[in-house]
Amino acid sequence: MELKTNLSKIKSLLPQNVKLIAVSKTKSADVILEVYKLGQKDFGENKVQELQQKYQILPKDIRWHMIGHLQTNKVKYIAEFVTLIHGVDSVKLLQEINHRAIENQRTIDCLLQVHIAKEDTKFGFSKDEILMMLKNNEIANLQNIRICGLMGMATYTSDDIVVFNEFNELAIFFEQIKNTYFADKDYFNEISMGMSGDYLIAIRAGATMVRIGSSIFGNRE
Ligand SMILES: *Cc1c(COP(=O)(O)O)cnc(C)c1O
Repeated sequence: MELKTNLSKIKSLLPQNVKLIAVSKTKSADVILEVYKLGQKDFGENKVQELQQKYQILPKDIRWHMIGHLQTNKVKYIAEFVTLIHGVDSVKLLQEINHRAIENQRTIDCLLQVHIAKEDTKFGFSKDEILMMLKNNEIANLQNIRICGLMGMATYTSDDIVVFNEFNELAIFFEQIKNTYFADKDYFNEISMGMSGDYLIAIRAGATMVRIGSSIFGNRE
């Protein structure tokens, strides 16, 4: 089976400390189940409705990652079950996630998305915005969320040096804010970066999570 070969090949290339998020967006529940049966438990989706539907019909020990842009008014649909929200890009969204986490009597883990690419179509905080938010203690009272690290997407380019430099910038920023603001927080330990085209570069730059879709499932329609 193609899926099995793809998955084992990727796994053989990942260091032990790097978690694989299988990005299953647009793929059917049947196909996801096949990959699940091969031992993969972490899956990523980028649309709330699709994520919610798949959660309902697939095994409950799947860890679901919301990797796409999340609108504030849709947090309520995934708050009950989501494992990690990768693309958090505003204080308002953090407040809403905290609110829905309280409602569901749980803590929700989040990553702050940092804008590192040259393109301006990509979402995310600037580094300055994150520094201001942390310096001003804007999220200190949000007891039901945990900021577990950072997420970023590199510029879409075949220039590996550009890509490495962007990922490296994210890793350096991670260390900086870990030392300054999260030194006593063991859970602040994730850098989510790298997709099918650039995950090996991301790993060299220090990724702890890679989000891989097409190299596992084949191209999307
Ligand atoms: C689709 C997507 C991925 C996976 O992309 P592939 O190139 O198929 O590996 C990773 N991260 C995000 C945020 C995505 O939307």
